[in-house]
Amino acid sequence: MNTFDTRCDEVQQAIAIKQSLSDAQTSHIEICEHCTALQIEFRRLDDLLEQSMIDEVPAGFADRVMAQITAISPQTQAIDDQVVDRLLAAFYRSRLLQSLLLGLGIAMGVGHIVRFFLGLFITSMAAAL
Ligand SMILES: [Zn+2]
Repeated sequence: MNTFDTRCDEVQQAIAIKQSLSDAQTSHIEICEHCTALQIEFRRLDDLLEQSMIDEVPAGFADRVMAQITAISPQTQAIDDQVVDRLLAAFYRSRLLQSLLLGLGIAMGVGHIVRFFLGLFITSMAAAL
C-alpha cells in the first residue's frame, strides 16, 4: 500500500504507545512503507533510550522520595487550608468585596453583549461596502 489511510493512523498509534499489534495490523505493516518506517524509527528510539539508561535506579529510591513527599504534604496542605479559610471568611464578611465581584461580573457580561452587537454591526457594514 502506497497511500496513507485511516488504517495507518490506527497502526501508528498502536506502535507509538507500544500496544500489541493485532494480526491485521501486523499484516498492514508488511505492506505499508509508512508504517514500516515508523516502526523502525520507534525501535531505534527504544534502543537509544535503553542504551542511555546505563545506571540503574538505586534500590528503595522511589520509596524514599515518596516518604519525603508524604512527610511534606500534610504541612503544606494545612497551610493552604488556613489561607483558603481566611480568604473565604474575609469574603463572606465583606459586602464591599461581594459588591465589587458582582459589579465586575455584570460589567463583563454587558461588555460581551456590546462586543457581540458591535461585531454584528461591523460585519454588516463591511458587507454593505
Ligand atoms: Zn500504514
